[in-house]
Amino acid sequence: MGTTITRFAPSPTGHLHIGGARTALFSWLLARHNDGKFVLRIEDTDRQRSTQEYTDAILDSMKWLGMDWDGELTYQSERFDIYNSYIDQLLEEGKAYWCECTPEQVDAMREKAMKEKRKPKYDGTCREKKFGPGENRVVRFKAPLEGRTSFTDMIKGPISVENAEMDDMILRRSDGSPTYNLAVVVDDHTMGVTQVLRGDDHVNNTPRQIQLYNALGWDVPKFGHVPMILGSDKKKLSKRHGALSVMEYEKMGYLPEAVVNYLVRLGWSHGDQEIFSREELIKLFNTEHLGNSPSVFDTKKLDWVNCEYIKTKAPADLVPGMRSFLSEDVEVEDAYLEKIIPLLQPRATNYKEMVEMSDFFMVSADVLEYDKKAVEKVFTPEAVEILKSLTAKIEADEEFSHDSLESICKDFLEERELKFKAIGQPVRLALCGRTQSPGGLYDLMLVLGKNETLARMNRAASLI
Ligand code: GLU
Repeated sequence: MGTTITRFAPSPTGHLHIGGARTALFSWLLARHNDGKFVLRIEDTDRQRSTQEYTDAILDSMKWLGMDWDGELTYQSERFDIYNSYIDQLLEEGKAYWCECTPEQVDAMREKAMKEKRKPKYDGTCREKKFGPGENRVVRFKAPLEGRTSFTDMIKGPISVENAEMDDMILRRSDGSPTYNLAVVVDDHTMGVTQVLRGDDHVNNTPRQIQLYNALGWDVPKFGHVPMILGSDKKKLSKRHGALSVMEYEKMGYLPEAVVNYLVRLGWSHGDQEIFSREELIKLFNTEHLGNSPSVFDTKKLDWVNCEYIKTKAPADLVPGMRSFLSEDVEVEDAYLEKIIPLLQPRATNYKEMVEMSDFFMVSADVLEYDKKAVEKVFTPEAVEILKSLTAKIEADEEFSHDSLESICKDFLEERELKFKAIGQPVRLALCGRTQSPGGLYDLMLVLGKNETLARMNRAASLI
């Protein structure tokens, strides 16, 4: 077989949702795995519902997830002449015909067929009338009446449909615009697509499209229809299950690599491995291991995958992402964030949480807010005295390292025959303004630096 060419063909009538993103990822991986090409086509033939804003949002989501495409982006709206030339060819060859039946007449045919317990379809009234073009006329495909149309789906296996069950579908509407099935076949063929992976809501279109390939004398690509994603209640994933669009996941603070990893695993497997680098996905991806049953979207699992990525990344690699969630008035250096991040990595689920957990690092001692209740409870006269004495010892510590701080505190506790908790809570409260925070005491001090540590301890001691 020649070069693998796959494609993703979103309609810009909404944002890229996670189901679409997963289908796109499978196509993208199939192309990258085979050193092939991945093309992106915007299916904007529905002029009423398609917008540039949605196109831009889809492209942003593709870029965010790291799905690069080959060659120029194609817009179906710019290819009407191409579609029409193939419709004309089919008309000339007698493989399509003009039809003047009105939508009402076609509805009546369908109803009649249903009453007679036949499959509802256009009854072929105009098939042999040899009409030419005319107002309100559509062009229909002269579909084979006998035999079967069969193919082997890469995911679902063999699929076969009686030709008699299929309509003479419309190829060109009365307003001159081509229909989806015609445009997709022309595009997939002219773009050299070898494998079509798409959502299984399109599986019924495939036999019709194969009939068109045959009528046009073109090789039929391979098809694979990906089962849909369900919500936790096993119903089709929808808004009620929470976020749907890829961009919402970015806004919630997920890492794109984690979303990619999670989505690919949702419907594809490699043994029981859960975490894959991008390179591993490209190396290991195959259509044989795409599952044939619907997958259930599980936010907890996505959170777990995101945590794994946060834990294992180099702190410097998390700096830009974390910064994008900091409010604009926070002015801190990258180097400072890089020191804070290791304290957050063991427990944060996403960038948003990283920012929330570390808010006390982003202000200076004079404006740090203290939790009033905690102050009243923790800063007893004894605690304040301990805080003051310990502050003096730390001030005298030239070294200000993890080891030196540890030995200062140890000696201090030994001298006074105290347990660690005698300094644990007061010092944490002094440094962070609250009693719960990430990081051990010495790590907190080291990130804050000596001056800021002392300033916070002094301010805290003066609160009561
Ligand atoms: N534009 C179609 C959709 O967004 C996809 C068509 C296809 O993949 O063949 O559902």
